Amino acid sequence: MQERIPQERIVIASHNAGKVREIAELLEPFGLEVIRADSLGLPEPEETGLTFAANAELKALAAAIGAKLPALADDSGLVVPALGGAPGIYSARWAGPDKDFGLAMERVRQELVDKEDHSAYFACALALGWPDGTCEVFEGRVQGRLVFPPRGERGFGYDPIFLPDGESETFGEMDPARKHAMSHRARAFEQLTHRLERV
Ligand code: IMP
Repeated sequence: MQERIPQERIVIASHNAGKVREIAELLEPFGLEVIRADSLGLPEPEETGLTFAANAELKALAAAIGAKLPALADDSGLVVPALGGAPGIYSARWAGPDKDFGLAMERVRQELVDKEDHSAYFACALALGWPDGTCEVFEGRVQGRLVFPPRGERGFGYDPIFLPDGESETFGEMDPARKHAMSHRARAFEQLTHRLERV
């Protein structure tokens, strides 16, 4: 990686405009030209991995090999230990084809009805893949607990039911800048940027 990082272009292996924007902003200090995977006509691979890291890696490598450039991908979700880790890598899928997170949060509430432990964490894996098939994965988590009914209109996904440890507001109520300073994604990026700074 030491010799390879001076490459000036990097592909963001996501078709989600919000994620691409966040990643591009975080990479700004490194002076890299950011290219979207969809602008290269690269298809999104199926997420067949069984962990966040495996899914991030398969997305990063598909883009890196397809584009012949380094590529960055992320995979994230909500993990509830009392539900055996669900929804976990299936977090997006629990919202169904209409991406209805009201439905997904209600399912979490119902499945937790007879459980005492309402602890949960968000996890994010960021993978940096290379055209030669090598890959490095950086992970971040934020710990908290689930509250019902959902609180707040900000954020996305499961934010309104997630209360981070030590905070009085859910991610759905919190100022976005505050969420971004402590989130699982920010922590995974911190690992990645430490790695880039050491090069
Ligand atoms: P991915 O796009 O396959 O990584 O799916 C991530 C899914 O996890 C999203 O659709 C959300 O449901 C959930 N998720 C990940 N990060 C967050 C977050 O910061 N807040 C709320 N939900 C999140």
